[in-house]
Amino acid sequence: MQKKFEFTYENLEKHYLKALSLGYKMYKCIDYFEKKNTLPLKIIVNRIDLDFSVKKTDKILDIFEKLDIKGTFFIRLHAKEYNPFDFDNYRIINRIIKSGNEIGYHSEVIDESAIWNEKPDDCLRRDIKVFNSMFNTEIKGIASHGGMTGLNNLDFWNENKPSDFGVMYEAYDDSGNFGLFKKSFYISDSEWTHWKCYDKGNLLKGNIKTFGEHLDDGHDLIYLLIHSDTFYTNHFYE
Ligand SMILES: [Zn+2]
Repeated sequence: MQKKFEFTYENLEKHYLKALSLGYKMYKCIDYFEKKNTLPLKIIVNRIDLDFSVKKTDKILDIFEKLDIKGTFFIRLHAKEYNPFDFDNYRIINRIIKSGNEIGYHSEVIDESAIWNEKPDDCLRRDIKVFNSMFNTEIKGIASHGGMTGLNNLDFWNENKPSDFGVMYEAYDDSGNFGLFKKSFYISDSEWTHWKCYDKGNLLKGNIKTFGEHLDDGHDLIYLLIHSDTFYTNHFYE
């Protein structure tokens, strides 16, 4: 019987520390896009989606700064759970950028298109423009958010290319330009109470080994996805 909570900041820090001690190097998504053919073995592409909370990201940044690791943080614009421009959220997003991490847009263009009856490509162009202006940046990457509408925001990329929108990659893109998901061992916290994993695109059903436990298997290329929302100091309801 499981008696301890897995998704504490303390455990997260331990997993990252173990990765570093085993010789893993941590990279942002843009590093993988730009240098994938020259990167060493034993790397972790470190991705963080901000689905419901920007504020919880502060603690994750504390860990990253302490261990000197970087990642790519994908931020929504249309969440009803947070306003990226609220006083503390804007401060934290600037902290992400200033500490050398990458930010990207966590896209919901298919949802926008269905709810507002607007063309998804118009929505995306406007989103990127607003996002870049809001944070005085030029994003390189987009990751599609999986929400509750029943629609799949990733479907947009069946007919569109990132370069058509002035960006370089979509984080689940399998076209070969990015192609990380199907080449990597993918570990995600997206089940809320336990980890899940995919080996080169195939779900390993029932495998709930933690990020730290997977490190013992020595995978050369790990794609790690965590969410700011999943983690806590003591318990989920704090
Ligand atoms: Zn998401």
